[in-house]
Amino acid sequence: MTNLPTIIAAIKDAVGPKGYMVDIRLMAPHLAEWRDAYQGMTPIVVMPENAGELAAVVKICADAGMAMVPQGGNTGLVGGAIPSEAGDQVLIKTSRMNKILSIDPLDYAITVEAGATLAAVQDAARNADRLFPLSLAAEGSCEIGGNIATNAGGVHVLKYGTMRDLVLGIEAVLPNGEIWNGLKALRKDTAGYDLKQLFIGAEGTLGIVTKATLKLFPTLKQTETAFIAIESPEAAVNLLARLRELSGDTVIAFELIPRIALQMVLDHIPDTRDPLADEHPWYALAELASPDKNANLRGKLEESLADALERGLLRDAALAESKQQRGALWRLRESISEAQKQEGGSIKHDIAVPPSKIPEFIAAASKAVEQALPGMRPVAFGHAGDGNVHFNLSQPKNMDKAAFLARWEKINRIVHDITVEMGGTIAAEHGIGRRKRAELAHYKSPVEIAMMRTIKAALDPQGLMNPGKVI
Ligand SMILES: Cc1cc2nc3c(=O)[nH]c(=O)nc-3n(C[C@H](O)[C@H](O)[C@H](O)COP(=O)(O)OP(=O)(O)OC[C@H]3O[C@@H](n4cnc5c(N)ncnc54)[C@H](O)[C@@H]3O)c2cc1C
Repeated sequence: MTNLPTIIAAIKDAVGPKGYMVDIRLMAPHLAEWRDAYQGMTPIVVMPENAGELAAVVKICADAGMAMVPQGGNTGLVGGAIPSEAGDQVLIKTSRMNKILSIDPLDYAITVEAGATLAAVQDAARNADRLFPLSLAAEGSCEIGGNIATNAGGVHVLKYGTMRDLVLGIEAVLPNGEIWNGLKALRKDTAGYDLKQLFIGAEGTLGIVTKATLKLFPTLKQTETAFIAIESPEAAVNLLARLRELSGDTVIAFELIPRIALQMVLDHIPDTRDPLADEHPWYALAELASPDKNANLRGKLEESLADALERGLLRDAALAESKQQRGALWRLRESISEAQKQEGGSIKHDIAVPPSKIPEFIAAASKAVEQALPGMRPVAFGHAGDGNVHFNLSQPKNMDKAAFLARWEKINRIVHDITVEMGGTIAAEHGIGRRKRAELAHYKSPVEIAMMRTIKAALDPQGLMNPGKVI
């Protein structure tokens, strides 16, 4: 490797004074993760202004044998965007590359730089009377490049799919510094391998996404939201299937919430209240939406809920009467992670099983973890419409937090074994990063791991692009 001061000087020269930080106080927020689980170090945070500058930085690093870590909004939850503690990896942030480049309402397509925040892309689409449907609680900070790299999910996957379903084209800088321009707005293309797929969900291990062309949809003209009390996760799965049938498949979100999660929110988050008069064991937050302004969604929702009541699929329901009420219902769902933090340590799982298996998964996993550590409090919530359960376990009351968290890997193994036995995945939407690397190696077949390693070695033979992540 060329000596470090020479590499740093070359990088500074390539991006100019606005394109880097070396002051530890300025770099600090980019070196720690949202949940404070990872803390890294770097000699320099580089913030190129465009793909050309970014490619120049990557080439300098590649020629010098210096490792690189891509970072977008740093809202990831598995340590993927944090450099190692050794301080020998250059952190490359895309946040200055944040332009909306073009929007084409006829093609239902938008082209943006990788550093545009998800919220900015949603706004740009809305201003052109179009919808970009990806939606998640971190949307004000997370960036399109990060969303692509993690194949982000969120609350609308049920209707619109994950980020993989929303990407039409990509421009990326390869680990050797070459720029690959795959920016196409095509809905069909059978000309050889679909190379953009390599970068979606790769968590920055195969290159750095610099631009993307994304799919748009007609804007939603009607939205109805209901907070529905139910007996069990089984009722939730049946209720969703029925709601989809009776509402003309207009369900765009369906979130499962256990009473323990709602109670934590009511206990810890100011200005929240239970929308229903009585306590119930489980809830579903369901949202119907349609681009048809004459869709009569209110009527369809009321009809569907009356049908569900008759079939014993629901106990009670509250319907949002205004935008404010709708916001208040969503706040209950979106505050669960924050409220759970106030209850001490929690061991997290971001799993998915086929939606029909959710009840069996929650029952089996809850029993297994309660046996492993009596008093542990399972909080199983999430995007039930796509089988994604955030099976997050709060520590037993009065237990030492550090002693509880020391069991993280052991408990993960119990829950992941059950998930995989049910045909599920150990990483539904947050990715692998550093946190689940060993788990991935444990659960993927040798053939799958070998294929992944072959792809990595072909694109990044020196192993310099986000090393220590994923594989
Ligand atoms: C409150 C909260 C709620 C969340 N809810 C959801 C949710 O519902 N669904 C969901 O899927 N996720 C969720 N997340 C996780 C996170 O927001 C997503 O993973 C998001 O896609 C990360 O985007 P980012 O720009 O912050 O990426 P970062 O955290 O900066 O990076 C994530 C990974 O992508 C790589 N990367 C970043 N930019 C690029 C690039 N341009 N090219 C190549 N690699 C890159 C990084 O190296 C890293 O491996 C949530 C996070 C928080 C804090």
